[in-house]
Amino acid sequence: MSLQVQSSVGGAREQRGSRASSASPCQVADCRAPFRRVVAIELPAAWEASRSYSVITVLVGACREHAPELERRAHALLDARADLHNLLTIVETEVAVEADLRQRLAASDADGGVVLEPGQERRPL
Ligand SMILES: [Zn+2]
Repeated sequence: MSLQVQSSVGGAREQRGSRASSASPCQVADCRAPFRRVVAIELPAAWEASRSYSVITVLVGACREHAPELERRAHALLDARADLHNLLTIVETEVAVEADLRQRLAASDADGGVVLEPGQERRPL
């Protein structure tokens, strides 16, 4: 599901895809340059372990200098959100491996120091 929220701050919605009025300034703080383009910024609605996620889209009027920068940062944000599932899967797998190793080490200490591979039976001496 994709949740779409569009802002109309600074008249950006009406001017999407067309040349902007020089009367509206760039919406980056402290930038007074006239905005030239509307940038769609997709903000992930949730940062959970799920592979899929919804986004909220915010439209921002940006000047010629800030528009590409905003797009680059917005893409980086979505890339990070997309990587989150894979990174959490790796961490969970490593935690399970470590827990298994700790369990085998504890069992080994109980058996006199022999570490058994998974499925390997202890042979009589
Ligand atoms: Zn700007």
